[in-house]
Amino acid sequence: MTQILPASIAALPGRSAELVDLLESWANLNSGSNHAAGLDRMRGALRTAFAGAFPTAEIEEPECPGSVRALRVCLRPQAPTQLLLSGHFDTVFEASDPFQRCTRVDARILRGPGVIDMKGGLVVLLAALQAFEQTPHAARLGWEALLTPDEETGSHGSAPLFAEAARRRHFGLVFEPARPNGDIVRSRKGTGGFVATVRGRAAHAAKIPNDGRNAILALAEFLLTASRIPTELPGVLVNVGNIRGGGPATNVVPDFATAEVDLRVTQAADRELLLARLHALAADINSRDGFRLELEVRFNRPPKECLPAEEALFAEWQRAAGDLGLVPFSWVHTGGASDGNLLSAAGLPNLDGLGPLGDQLHSNREFIDTSTIAPRAQIAALVLHRIASGEIPFPPAR
Ligand SMILES: [Zn+2]
Repeated sequence: MTQILPASIAALPGRSAELVDLLESWANLNSGSNHAAGLDRMRGALRTAFAGAFPTAEIEEPECPGSVRALRVCLRPQAPTQLLLSGHFDTVFEASDPFQRCTRVDARILRGPGVIDMKGGLVVLLAALQAFEQTPHAARLGWEALLTPDEETGSHGSAPLFAEAARRRHFGLVFEPARPNGDIVRSRKGTGGFVATVRGRAAHAAKIPNDGRNAILALAEFLLTASRIPTELPGVLVNVGNIRGGGPATNVVPDFATAEVDLRVTQAADRELLLARLHALAADINSRDGFRLELEVRFNRPPKECLPAEEALFAEWQRAAGDLGLVPFSWVHTGGASDGNLLSAAGLPNLDGLGPLGDQLHSNREFIDTSTIAPRAQIAALVLHRIASGEIPFPPAR
């Protein structure tokens, strides 16, 4: 290594048991996205931990419309270099879900709701900042930890908080889980969806000749063609999620059918192409006598594409891991969206997937490899230290 590893960073593996205990206590607090009281309790636990760790930090609880308040912790807002570290404290497990508490499966594996998505990442974020604060050049770097309550439902209320943070900071670090093999996230698909509703004409099924217009069949034809769009536009995903239509009587030609479809795109440019294809398919159905197809398309989180500043900091992330003697890793494209998408859309370069290793998120088999908490915190703390010391040139070119 080009310099001695600061003692607080070297000491992180020794804190492992204490960090796992902290994670277990957080994961045992139900904080499903729609459980306001549980989310308030979880934010309270986070506030206690951050206030204890950073007594001089400014702590705020900004409003997050549609959910409970977020938690924002800022230290040294006047320092020349400003980083944003983010994570969400909601989970997909609601108050009524049977999956409520952690189980220690063995010395390394902790199973429990939100342990990897992403309360484990919140522990990494906290531990990394604690270690960083004791390094010699910390005064040169200011940071904001933004912890939000609504990621699993699309970050509708917290999106403005990310946009605001993006204007004030130079780079974002998102502590969503790493991939199960340790890779971090290079890029993410953007998310959206559409509702397609067809109105046809009802008639008795046995009438000859029949002037009925079968809305279910027209919608089915539209959906089948739409679901083949990805063969022409690689990087686009189309998933027909549900369909409703017709009535109780099967001897009636149904005059109504509607479907909801999930859409994902890899590049911002895919959106326009996808929209044009969908509207062309809708126009084909609408050109037929007696049919009316209405299409409501909505894009939520734009895609996160890879920027040069991200390439540069990722190389530093890998170098830090190598200097710490950790297992090497790469970075990959993923179909799932996160708040990294919002930061990219707001122009803030960011690295995502910096949390610990685990798998089976969004299921009652969700687990974390707890032996990866301290190493992931060490990498983050070492990169922060190298930015603060000037060893890593910063801010990077956008
Ligand atoms: Zn997550």
